[in-house]
This record gives sequence, structure tokens and C-alpha cells, in this order.
Amino acid sequence: MIYRFLRGFNEIYPVAVLFAFIAAFFVAFAFTVIYPLVPIVLIISSVFLVVIARVVFLVLRHFERGIALASLRNGKCPACATACDVLRVGESRVQECPSCRRIFDEVGAPYVPQERVEDANKSVSLEHASPEGARVAADGSGGV
Ligand SMILES: [Zn+2]
Repeated sequence: MIYRFLRGFNEIYPVAVLFAFIAAFFVAFAFTVIYPLVPIVLIISSVFLVVIARVVFLVLRHFERGIALASLRNGKCPACATACDVLRVGESRVQECPSCRRIFDEVGAPYVPQERVEDANKSVSLEHASPEGARVAADGSGGV
């Protein structure tokens, strides 16, 4: 529950910060003639706000991955508490939830195979399936 909330928040956070800075730009632009102190203060404070926004993002991501790892160590999906299948992609192990199809890598981050260039031509093999998962191994190439 808390994981899904954090995950959703972390997905919209960068875009929300971007739009907040764009809104601040228009506020500063509107005040350039009326009251020039506002844009000056906004320009100076924006440098620090970027650092704060980045630090907040890193802290939130740290908590999200910590919750995910604590759940994945028990073999459970952080989002729906179903037992995960362990897959081996090249040298790395990823855990896939048979129920909600979320995939997690070793650090607890969501795993997106299309974004990993180094995993492009690696074979995927099922290391061990969850007890209730009735899925068959995707291939039998024996890449373990
Ligand atoms: Zn799940």
C-alpha cells in the first residue's frame, strides 16, 4: 500500500516539479514590470530550489527502494504481496510478480528491459518460480 503510493508519487514528482518551475517563471515574468523584486528573489532562490527538489527526490526514491527491497527479500511483491518469480537476465537477477506483472531489479527499482542496452541480447531464464505460480519457464537455454 505505502509502496504503491510512493511509487506513484515518484513517477509524477519530476513532471510536477518541472511544471512548478514553469509556473514560477510566469509569475516572475508577470512581476518584472510591476514589482521587480519578485523576479530577482525567484531567480536567486530557484538555484536552491533545484537542489532541494533533487534531494527530496533522492530521499523519496531511497524510501521507495527500501520498502521494495524489504518486501523482495521475503520473496513477496511490494505492491500486491504475491510471491515473486525470480528470473535471471544475463548476470543479473530480477523478480517478476506473476499477479501484477511488475518487475524489480536487485536494488528494488522497477525493471524495464527495453531501457537496458546491456540486457538487449541476453537470454531470460526462470531461476525458480513462486509456489503458487503455475508458469512454465520461458526458454530452456539454461543460462543459469
Ligand atoms: Zn505484484
